[in-house]
Amino acid sequence: MPELPEVETTRRGIAPHVVGRHVAELHVYDRRLRWPVPANLQQKVRGLAINAVDRRSKYLLFRIGANTLLMHFGMTGSLRVYRAAPKRHLHDHVDLVLDDGTTLRYRDPRRFGALLLLSGSGATHPLLRALGPEPFDLGFDARYLWSATRGRRAAIKIALMDNRLVVGVGNIYANESLFRAGVRPSLPARRLSRTRAERLVAEIRNVLTEAIAKGGSTLRDYVDSRGEPGYFQLDYFVYGRGGIPCRVCGTPIRAVRQAQRASYYCPSCQS
Ligand SMILES: [Zn+2]
Repeated sequence: MPELPEVETTRRGIAPHVVGRHVAELHVYDRRLRWPVPANLQQKVRGLAINAVDRRSKYLLFRIGANTLLMHFGMTGSLRVYRAAPKRHLHDHVDLVLDDGTTLRYRDPRRFGALLLLSGSGATHPLLRALGPEPFDLGFDARYLWSATRGRRAAIKIALMDNRLVVGVGNIYANESLFRAGVRPSLPARRLSRTRAERLVAEIRNVLTEAIAKGGSTLRDYVDSRGEPGYFQLDYFVYGRGGIPCRVCGTPIRAVRQAQRASYYCPSCQS
């Protein structure tokens, strides 16, 4: 599933080819994504300039004319740029053709993704309005994390994965940042100390920064590529390493389930 680093890498990969261009055509081959692609989308964007490509959480936001085209990759979505588009593949559902002939192609075999037109910046749209801060926002600091977790009985890992608290910390990054911060995933969120909140904020940013940096080396894969863009395999400390010795202390990593998701931790390094 594309996480924040993959979406941010996609944004950086496509933006130079897209920003400042106009939409020549929009071809929708299959409207049946998570929600139907609006029937009048073509008429509403044709001829308009793409002023910017932003990201909020795992949503790509194309600022087109005065409005925003929201794109979400669901479980299996991906986006590619072609100077000369090859023959359409079965799972290629949307082509956004620009005034210089460049094609932005959306592929999504499982069709859990989304393509919606939001009015204005889309900030008040139900998908966006309740989202918490971005992990790199200045507002996401130790003081914020500490206050926002007071009164929360849920485990800290569950809290971190709650988009209303902070966006973009998916399962892998929650596991890894908790390890690096020395915090057990099961710790009740309200018992996170101010000092550990500080460490956790720093490690969330570190782990995401490293994944985005890793994505940087794959940026050219988004242009004229016929392969699938890869996922960025960090050298994980705990994720997917149940039963394997901890890289730091050698204690076997434990694997448990929390809210149907796999959690991994080192019983010695994390408390
Ligand atoms: Zn350890």
